[in-house]
Amino acid sequence: PARPAASPLLRPDDVFIAVKTTRKNHGPRLGLLLRTWISRARRQTFIFTDGDDPELQLQGGSHVVNTNCSAVHTRQALCCKMSVEYDKFIESGRKWFCHVDDDNYVNSEGLLQLLATFSPSQDVYLGRPSLDHPIEATERVQEGGTVTTVKFWFATGGAGFCLSRGLALKMSPWASLGSFMSTAERVRLPDDCTVGYIVEGLLGARLLHSSLFHSHLENLQRLPPNSVLQQVTLSYGGPENPQNVVNVAGGFSREQDPTRFKSIHCLLYPDTDWCPARKQD
Ligand code: UDP
Ligand code: MN
Repeated sequence: PARPAASPLLRPDDVFIAVKTTRKNHGPRLGLLLRTWISRARRQTFIFTDGDDPELQLQGGSHVVNTNCSAVHTRQALCCKMSVEYDKFIESGRKWFCHVDDDNYVNSEGLLQLLATFSPSQDVYLGRPSLDHPIEATERVQEGGTVTTVKFWFATGGAGFCLSRGLALKMSPWASLGSFMSTAERVRLPDDCTVGYIVEGLLGARLLHSSLFHSHLENLQRLPPNSVLQQVTLSYGGPENPQNVVNVAGGFSREQDPTRFKSIHCLLYPDTDWCPARKQD
C-alpha cells in the first residue's frame, strides 16, 4: 500500500506532548526537563501530575494538569493518568498525541520531523516495543466470565509513543471519559500495554516499530555518540543504574550532569544562556 501522504506543514502546536509525572518527582526530575527540552517546546507540552504544586503551576499555567489520580505506582493510578492525558488531547483538537515519562528527553524538532512523514488522519501508533515478541494477555469479557487470549504489540511508555488523531478518535469507546480504566481491568495490564491492546487487539491497527524512541530498559551507552542527537526520545538509568546513560561529550562532566540531558540540550541548542560558551578558534 502507498505510504500515507506526508504533512509538510506540521507545526509544533499540532503536537500534544503529555509528560507523566508524580508529586515527589517535581523537584528531582521535572526541574531538569523544564530547564532543558521543555523550555524549547512550551506550547506543545502538558504536564500530568497528581498533586498541587503552586511553584510548578506558576511556571506551567494551564499546561500543568493535576489529574487528582492517586500518587501511587499501581495499574489503576497509572491508567487514571493515561485516561486524563487522552481526554485532554481529544479536547485540544491537536493532530498528534505523544506520551513520555518524566525521565525522557524529547528532541521536539526531531519528533516533529518524524510525525510530518505521516498523516494524522491515518491510523498511526508509533513507538518502541519493550519486548521482542507480542504480549499475550487474557481478556475477560463481561458476561459469562469467558476468558480468551489476545496477542498484540505495545510501545513501552518509558520510551514515549505517539498516536495520530485519527487513531485516537477510533479508540474513544475504550479510552475516553474513564473507560480506559475499565479496559485496563479487562486485561489487567499497565497503561502502555492497554494502549497496545486497544490499538492492535481491539481495533486491528498496528504498532509501527521505531528505533528512535529510547527507554532505560535498553543499554543506552550502546547508542553511537554521533547518532544521539538524531534520536527522538532518550532516557537515563537513574540512581539504581547510574551507568546507563547516553554517551555524549559536551560541556558538562558526569558529576555535573549525571543524566547527560544538559549536555544533549547544549549540543542541540548551544545558544542557551546556561550552556558553556563555545571555544573560539
Ligand atoms: N509515576 C507516577 N506515579 C508513581 C510513580 C511513577 O506517575 O507513583 C510515573 C513517573 O513520574 C514516570 C513513570 O511513572 O513518569 C515511570 O516511573 P519510573 O521512571 O520511576 O519507573 P520505571 O517504570 O521507569 O522503572
Ligand atoms: Mn523510568
